[in-house]
Amino acid sequence: MQWETVIGLEVHVQLATHSKIFSGASTAFGAEPNSQACAVDLGLPGVLPVLNEQAVAMAVQFGLAVHADIPEVSVFDRKNYFYPDLPKGYQTSQMYHPIVGPGEVEIALDDDTTKRIRIHHAHLEEDAGKSLHEDFHGMTGIDLNRAGTPLLEIVSEPDMRSAKEAAAYLKAIHSIVTYLGISDGNMAEGSMRCDVNVSVRPKGQEAFGTRAEIKNVNSFRFVEKAIAFEVERQIELIEDGGKVVQETRLFDPERDETRSMRTKEEANDYRYFPCPDLLPVVLDQAYLDHLRSQLPELPAEKRERFQQALGLSAYDASVLSASRDMAEYFEAVHRVCGDAKQAANWVQGELSGALNRENLSIANSPVSANQLGELVQRVLDDTINGKAAKQVFQALWHGEGTSADAIIEAKGLKQVTDTGAIEAMIDQVIADSPAQVAQYCDAEPEKRGKMIGYFVGQVMKASRGTANPQQVNGLLKEKLDALL
Ligand code: ADP
Ligand code: MG
Repeated sequence: MQWETVIGLEVHVQLATHSKIFSGASTAFGAEPNSQACAVDLGLPGVLPVLNEQAVAMAVQFGLAVHADIPEVSVFDRKNYFYPDLPKGYQTSQMYHPIVGPGEVEIALDDDTTKRIRIHHAHLEEDAGKSLHEDFHGMTGIDLNRAGTPLLEIVSEPDMRSAKEAAAYLKAIHSIVTYLGISDGNMAEGSMRCDVNVSVRPKGQEAFGTRAEIKNVNSFRFVEKAIAFEVERQIELIEDGGKVVQETRLFDPERDETRSMRTKEEANDYRYFPCPDLLPVVLDQAYLDHLRSQLPELPAEKRERFQQALGLSAYDASVLSASRDMAEYFEAVHRVCGDAKQAANWVQGELSGALNRENLSIANSPVSANQLGELVQRVLDDTINGKAAKQVFQALWHGEGTSADAIIEAKGLKQVTDTGAIEAMIDQVIADSPAQVAQYCDAEPEKRGKMIGYFVGQVMKASRGTANPQQVNGLLKEKLDALL
């Protein structure tokens, strides 16, 4: 039996407002417990919520970025349940009239193709507080700093068919919200987390299988691992004659497995009703047009432009447009050096390699885009060869000079293109290597091409890496062949 995986994601994004969605308390991360929860967040009697306009604007900008319908009217509902980190006894959310209607996101797949994933809707809601289990012997501590933090919950259609597609979708959402600047996207701090809905069905069958929902997965890698485990579990269960039950599960990253948490509740368990303290949100066309006019160039548009206007490959364009910081850095290097392909190679090669090794983000790169642009320029105008360029890069990285030119000068790395000087070095190497010369002359003609590498190496060494490698190659071949 061949099985097909079906996945739908509910992504929670913390919006980067300064204050909470219904109160003026700060949303800053990492403060002392309960120092940022006001009377509204605590649900004290007699208080009234006031909607944060910034949260509305951010939600709408997301909607516009995913080409969604933005309904004129949206409504807040109360979702009633009891939990210690929810002192009001209900979460204010949007159940029936969300602020963002159907839209779609394009995801990039490994084979350079793209796929459209439909978004069912996105709605605004408030986050709950946190229960603290450490440091409280036999008791649970409650920190309500997070209570009332604005969340945008983005619900996809069940359009994904593999763990890879789900991760690509999550990455696409991450890059859209960070491009828009509506969230810091910091998954480790919980600014973005997702519920993964997974089911399997026999290949070719139209009806979906019963799904399990894996709650609160907070990294791209965990999404893939949780799905891989869950798919295997469900297939095994069905093949053994069992049935998948609709339930909520938790992913355990220590063991790479999911475990049952509770059976799924139905909407009517929550006694949803429109929140009587908040007016419906009504958005007019002028407001939407204003927000639309403020949208930055988005990842998909950038990727398209990098391919069409700059001639980059689909792969390069997609890597370089994935984060706004990376895209802006690359564009600055390109502006200085004028060659998109070389700029792309340096950013993805030498620079990304060094950043990864030291676990630095591109925003904290010790080498600025201007410095790298000038370095690439010196390769393009033949001032230095590729080998010297790597040395210059390392020197810039370690702060040994403020510009490529200063380092080239100080280290004497200017490329030697003077034929006379190169010939003199070649003659010296040939004179010093009689055994290798004899071997070269005795070898089959088709083997000589490879053997010339030894001599090139010696000449490059003699020039301390500054000779022009193409010239060295050409001249060496002439001189050696004259000895045959
Ligand atoms: P609920 O309201 O119970 O959470 P929804 O119908 O809103 O259920 O779906 C929640 C998420 O589950 C959506 O992202 C949707 O795409 C996904 N989903 C629904 N049915 C399936 C299924 N059979 N397999 C996988 N994902 C599904
Ligand atoms: Mg749901």
